[in-house]
Amino acid sequence: MIEDKNQQRTQLSDLGEFGLIDHLTKNFKIKHSTTIKGIGDDAAVLDFKKQIVVTTDLLVEGVHFDLSYMPLKHLGYKSVIVNLSDVYAMNAKATQVTISIAVSNRFPIEALEAIYAGIETAAKIYNIDVIGGDTTSSNTGLLISVTAIGEVEADQVVYRNGAKPNDLLVVSGDLGAAYMGLQVLEREKEVFKVNPNNQPDLEPYTYIVERQLKPEARKDIIKLLSELEVKPTAMIDISDGLSSEIMHLCKQSKVGCDLYENKIPLDPQVISTCEEFNIDSTTVALNGGEDYELLFTITQQDFPKIKANPNLSVIGFIKEEKEGLHLITRADTKIPLKAQGWKNFND
Ligand code: ADP
Ligand code: MG
Repeated sequence: MIEDKNQQRTQLSDLGEFGLIDHLTKNFKIKHSTTIKGIGDDAAVLDFKKQIVVTTDLLVEGVHFDLSYMPLKHLGYKSVIVNLSDVYAMNAKATQVTISIAVSNRFPIEALEAIYAGIETAAKIYNIDVIGGDTTSSNTGLLISVTAIGEVEADQVVYRNGAKPNDLLVVSGDLGAAYMGLQVLEREKEVFKVNPNNQPDLEPYTYIVERQLKPEARKDIIKLLSELEVKPTAMIDISDGLSSEIMHLCKQSKVGCDLYENKIPLDPQVISTCEEFNIDSTTVALNGGEDYELLFTITQQDFPKIKANPNLSVIGFIKEEKEGLHLITRADTKIPLKAQGWKNFND
């Protein structure tokens, strides 16, 4: 949170647009044979034999991230991750990304270097080619738009609309941590405003803060499902909270569902931080957002293949559409599921 006053600050204009792009992208190596031409021409050239998945996300300063606690390297990393998550949610392999950045001249080149260091790390870890983008100036702040491309065999694509009554509703990992991490960071930001010498102690919140600042996309789950020979009947990634993703999946599949409150996976740090903030942990898991876990449905026949896996939790059942969408609470009452969506739209 402390700005280093000795940081080197090189003006963007010192390099010029072309020099800047070269400078930022010089380390990117092409890894996939489907990338025929990457950065450097008017457009990239790709060559696929499979079906292609394409997805875009736009991140806007002040709306999707706050630079007072989001390190720029993490921002670069996260901007790639949120897109890869959408590719994996189609049961596809992510292969390429393009990166478009609009930046005001209050950012020195070192800031862009930090963003690109994060992008490079994500590209390395997830085995992705960075094949192009656009760079332009902005009057207001920083915008990053990433487009991700992936490939998948035609018969392996998983849409949101394939869930059938009696299917099991399954989620990877645990939920609500990114939202609680954000609550902690917001609180520390307020403390810092009042007393800049007060260094925050984030030690008790390491996991949830990391889930907010450095999320991962569940490439491993796509690999696992393929190894287990489980093809989900429907799938979606959890970016806006479990509740609204269940509603999207059920609406598109024309089904209902029962979600069991006591089955929702929560990390102990989420539970303890919810107690500290006096927030209900189920509300956080349902409406928090930014978990980037995968929510999917499988047939009952596939249950034995996944049941022993600690990364996967069965949280409910798909019902007929006319039965509606319900949360079965710990007290065994049945209440209609509501989507509160994510705070971007509630603010
Ligand atoms: P054009 O004027 O045709 O849009 P640019 O000068 O913007 O071309 O881009 C030149 C090359 O650099 C292209 O291959 C483009 O995809 C790539 N590029 C531009 N900006 C970025 C960026 N921020 N990240 C990665 N590649 C970029
Ligand atoms: Mg351009």
